[in-house]
Amino acid sequence: MDKRIEIIQGDITRIPVDAIVNAANSSLLGGGGVDGAIHRAGGKQILEACQAVRAKQGGCNVGDAVITVAGHLPAKYVIHTVGPHWRPGGNNEDALLANCYINCLRLAEDNHINTLSFPNISTGIYRFPKQKAAEIALKTITRSLINHHNIEKIIIVCFEEENYDIYKALEKNHYC
Ligand code: ADP
Repeated sequence: MDKRIEIIQGDITRIPVDAIVNAANSSLLGGGGVDGAIHRAGGKQILEACQAVRAKQGGCNVGDAVITVAGHLPAKYVIHTVGPHWRPGGNNEDALLANCYINCLRLAEDNHINTLSFPNISTGIYRFPKQKAAEIALKTITRSLINHHNIEKIIIVCFEEENYDIYKALEKNHYC
């Protein structure tokens, strides 16, 4: 695994970084889970910035990402990405989840962001299987980092113990 990746358990709204990634929904108007926590802790500046993005481009597609200010959060920016909803039968969810990580890292690079934190995108309300999501996240971040020399640290913030244990086991087994 790339030495720049760190896995911790905690609340993403409390960890200082240049940019915090939000697992948003396509409306960009806030929701439950980590999205709700980010908007609550960051305050109305984030919602206003999201509304400005909506006015310009009408929301955010699954797999894409947009960047806003971070309000009261201990960060300069929030990068909002929309993970795929897991649906039995398959609707390209794996590739869409990978796109979230790829597009967040691209935005980070474009905005000279050195440190960023990711939640476990899609593994809450969107019900993506946790093991599979963790493997996609680690594989995609590791591959993308090869081309992103300015990014110094990526903190994967697991809220739930189950996700933390999955990531730690992958790290221990040198998954990437
Ligand atoms: P999604 O709709 O993409 O599934 P959720 O917010 O429901 O988004 O869940 C994504 C992940 O974020 C879940 O693993 C959930 O446990 C986690 N999460 C919820 N609150 C926080 C928080 N404050 N900090 C970090 N992760 C969080």
